[in-house]
Formats: sequence, structure tokens, C-alpha cells
Amino acid sequence: MSELDLSKKVADRYLKREVLGEGTYGVVYKAIDTKTGQTVAIKKIRLGKQKEGVNFTALREIKLLKELKDPNIIELIDAFPHKENLHLVFEFMETDLEAVIRDRNIFLSPADIKSYLQMTLKGLAVCHKKWVLHRDMKPNNLLIGPNGQLKLADFGLARIFGSPDRRFTHQVFARWYRAPELLFGSKQYGSGVDVWAAACIFAELLLRRPFLQGSSDIDQLGKIFAAFGTPTPSQWPDIVYLPDYVEYQYVAAPPLRSLFPMASDDALDLLSKMFAYDPRARLSVQQTLEHRYFSSAPLPTDPDKLPRPAPKRESRSSDYNQTEGPTVLSPPRKSRRVMPGRDGFDGNRIDDNAGDIRQVVGENTGKSDAAPMSLDFSIFGLKPPNRPTINSADRSHLKRKLDLEFQHPE
Ligand code: ADP
Repeated sequence: MSELDLSKKVADRYLKREVLGEGTYGVVYKAIDTKTGQTVAIKKIRLGKQKEGVNFTALREIKLLKELKDPNIIELIDAFPHKENLHLVFEFMETDLEAVIRDRNIFLSPADIKSYLQMTLKGLAVCHKKWVLHRDMKPNNLLIGPNGQLKLADFGLARIFGSPDRRFTHQVFARWYRAPELLFGSKQYGSGVDVWAAACIFAELLLRRPFLQGSSDIDQLGKIFAAFGTPTPSQWPDIVYLPDYVEYQYVAAPPLRSLFPMASDDALDLLSKMFAYDPRARLSVQQTLEHRYFSSAPLPTDPDKLPRPAPKRESRSSDYNQTEGPTVLSPPRKSRRVMPGRDGFDGNRIDDNAGDIRQVVGENTGKSDAAPMSLDFSIFGLKPPNRPTINSADRSHLKRKLDLEFQHPE
């Protein structure tokens, strides 16, 4: 069987349903795995026509993600190329932490917040142990399953497919979770960027709104410094060596307690150590989990008792009956997170590749063997796109803009 036949065969395993949304790397569909009857989410990543040969690094990393199995990490069930796209098949999740935080009908107790944070950090710890960084931690990448388990999604994709391009609307929010070393253009950052983002998520759980909402990268740094004070050389000696470093006017830090009036002392202590400026002084994920915040009362709520929104997307595996075939497709519903895409995708229309994953129930062999992962990606010339550097377009004007911002504060 040729590579192309093989990839088609694997694609045929999934019965495509409605669009769940468009994310950083492409459209996400709900689908049914005709072999298992399981509902899955398929992320279709556009690779485009590329002449370069196979990118073994990307392939190896996808395999690595598939091996990352943990209750707090979304399972990558399968990966296959089809046409000019790479399809990543994940377990289907009902909702995400962003929906929990935004839902005004939900009351989050200190124990609930502790539980959601602990699951986030546990998932992150497993990944960091395997030297995988997330790099795009934000509440809507923390998916929540039917039993309340929170699972990290989109792990490692930034490294494989390049940093999300922040020119697109659905990416601008990600800036709010960026560590200061990234905003200053650091190329040698480490796991600390994920700890910073986790601290922003912790703060958001406490405040029920995003904590540091910068409107540009410069403004983001301004918001950070307004919250924690402008970093001093003693706090962060290497700051001056960062590629995009510019001196900011000194502002003193307000007491952290004034920003989080309802938080416990333990919560504030952990938060301040996760928000350490110097990435080397910032707690590691493992250290955050060992912090007394997690062992002191109240203990984290059991996941299945956590409050969460009524599921917007039903994960009924009965949607597809393996003996009778598929039920009539329901009309696509507009997802909460559907945003205008880079090529005019309107959120309700399944694109012209809608037939990518064919409804070939008749071809279902009923065998339960796992679909092969070891496909030759060379037919797609898998190669990560260039990673845009932060604010590269603005860099030459950075100093001038900063001067202006400080002369005319908002
Ligand atoms: P982003 O890149 O902005 O984080 P994603 O590509 O991860 O967005 O997701 C786009 C949409 O698909 C979102 O509405 C998200 O909730 C949904 N989605 C992503 N993965 C899953 C999943 N495993 N189960 C259910 N919905 C998912």
C-alpha cells in the first residue's frame, strides 16, 4: 500500500461532525472514531505545499506527545497526514477553564480554585519532566472532561509548528499570559514561561477576569510592572542582556494583597513566587506543587465535585452506533470560540475539505488495533513555519513608543 493510500485509510476511520472552532493552527472538528465509537476532536493543521523533505524533528515530537499519557494531559489518540493537512486526533472534552471562569452562575470556592490550579500544575509537571514546554498556556487550552478532570491541551504544538502568530484575532489574548523574558525577546527561555502563564491563570481564577490585559507587547510589560513594580537589577540581573530590553520608568509595586484582597496568605505567597521576574528565581512546577498552599486547608475539591458549566457540546458516544451506522448529522452549531479565520472561514461553514474524513462506515473492519502513527510525513514536507519574534515589526520604534507611553499614560 502506498503512503497516500495508507493515510487515506487512516483518515477513513473518522466520521466528521460539526466544527468545534478555529484555533491557532486550524479548524477543530468533532468526529466519531468508527472503530471505537468514541467521540474525538480532530485538529486539522494546514501544512501547505512544501517542497522540503521530511522534518524528522516534527515527526519525533508528535510521537513524543503521543507518549505523554497522564490524567491531566489531553490524550493524542492519533496523528495522520491527509491531503495537505496534518490531522491530530484528541479525546473529546466538554468544556474548558475559560468557560468556567467566565460563567457568572458558577461560584468558585478557594478549594475549587486550588483543585483547578493543582490539576493544571500536575499536567505541566509531567510535561516538563519530559522536557516538553507548552508555551501557550491559557484558560481555553485547559480542557475539562465529564468527570471534572482538567487536561492540558495544545502541548508542544508551538514548538512543532512555530509560535502562534499573534496577528490573528484568536491569538491576541495569549499575550496576557506571556512571561516578561518572552516579551523582552528572550530566545533562551525555559520552563519558567509556563510557570508564569500558570500564575496568570491562578490570578484569573482568583479575580474571575484576566489579570494582566495588555493591548500590545509594550503595554503588556507596562501592566506587569504596574502590578509588581519595575524589576531592579538585583531582582533580575540578566534583564539588561535580553534582545529587546529597554529601560522602563521605575514604578514601585503596590502590596500584592491590594490586588488580591480575597486570597489566603498561602495563595499570595505561592502566586508571588510563581511571578518572580528572574526566570531562575521563579519556582519550578514541581516546587509549586510542593508549596504549603496545596497541603493547607481547605484541601483541593475532588474533580468530580467541581462546579462547571452545563456541557455545550454533548460527548455522547451513542451519536454513532457501530452496528447501525451514523445517525443523521446535526446542523453545525456555532462554537463559543469560533473566530474569523485567516482565510475567511465563517465558523458555520465546513470548508471545501469537508470530505477529508469520509463517512465510510461500510469500510469499518471492526478491528480495534490502533491506527499507525509511523507514517512518512515526507509527502507533506512537514516543516515548521518560521517563528515570528515578538514585536519584531515594532522593534525599531520600541524606544520612541515607550517614551511616548510614559509621557502620556493611559
Ligand atoms: P486555540 O488554538 O485558540 O487554543 P484550539 O485550536 O485548541 O484553539 O481549539 C479551537 C476550538 O476547538 C475551541 O473551541 C476548543 O474549545 C475546541 N477544542 C479543541 N480541542 C478540543 C477537544 N479535545 N475537545 C473538544 N473541543 C476542543
